[in-house]
Amino acid sequence: MRVASNQLKHMSDFYHRELSGIYNEGEINAMYQNAISHYLHIPYAEVHKHANDKINQSELILIYDCCKKLREQQPLQYILGEAFFYGLSFNVNAHVLIPRPETEELVDIVVKNCTGKKTFLDIGTGSGCIAISLAKYNKQFRVTACDVSDQALQTAALNAQKNKVELKFTETNVLNKTEFETQVNGSFDVIVSNPPYIKEEEATQLLPNVMAHEPHLALFVKGSDDILFYRKITDICSTKLNSGGSLYFELNPLTAQKVLEYVEASGQFKTCELLKDLSGKTRFLQATKH
Ligand code: SAM
Ligand code: GLN
Repeated sequence: MRVASNQLKHMSDFYHRELSGIYNEGEINAMYQNAISHYLHIPYAEVHKHANDKINQSELILIYDCCKKLREQQPLQYILGEAFFYGLSFNVNAHVLIPRPETEELVDIVVKNCTGKKTFLDIGTGSGCIAISLAKYNKQFRVTACDVSDQALQTAALNAQKNKVELKFTETNVLNKTEFETQVNGSFDVIVSNPPYIKEEEATQLLPNVMAHEPHLALFVKGSDDILFYRKITDICSTKLNSGGSLYFELNPLTAQKVLEYVEASGQFKTCELLKDLSGKTRFLQATKH
């Protein structure tokens, strides 16, 4: 691997040469622009204006190493240690899922439909992207975020500081109702969750960079019950969701109907509906408690 000179346009040629065949042209352009923007503190949209700029040796090494890691299919956000979500910057690492665009849509639905609500619980918070975005969006929202992973919670707490919001964090296992009910205090107007929803058999269909680098604890639901997390969270609503409160899920389109049927059959909700994401896939559930 060789870069022709320390001018940025040669670094761009280098990225294209090294990464073509692994990623398409558009992806390489976006990864290059993101890397340059991150390491050189140049706005993303202005990177092209700096093609003739020269970079110093330490900048060159950082940008070169980033390309080497991209060749190994490490996700760019983990290489940079940063991901953007709902207009905010989040630290990310191997203990947390990289926030997805469809989850931004979920946050958008929640903020639009929950203006009068006060208390929010995010189950399986990971990087904290949902909980922190809600708290940042509306200063009146009081948000609690929980996760079974201590390392994820540490990352989420750092992200709350970084984005200057105060949240309550609780380490707990949502699959154990008794433990959950004692560890998570009080009840809430809104419960939101993007739980692990990929069946282990579906693992072969995941992109290699997701499979090799993202936390399996965040992605996979173990065993034969593919809606286990949704059943447990629905059951928890009987004690943890206030009357008139709302439940929001991000869903796997493959099991969306099954989740809807379970939530309806619980008898706790007066309304319950599935919503599509921008790509037309059935992706969210919204329900209102009696
Ligand atoms: N909320 C983040 C987002 O939307 O990007 C992360 C969602 S990730 C799909 C699921 C999260 O659930 C992970 O952070 C994982 O650690 C957490 N989790 C997995 N099993 C759990 C359990 N039994 N109890 C609580 N959280 C759990
Ligand atoms: N949307 C993520 C993916 O496709 C999975 C998130 C989840 O399991 N909740 O990789």
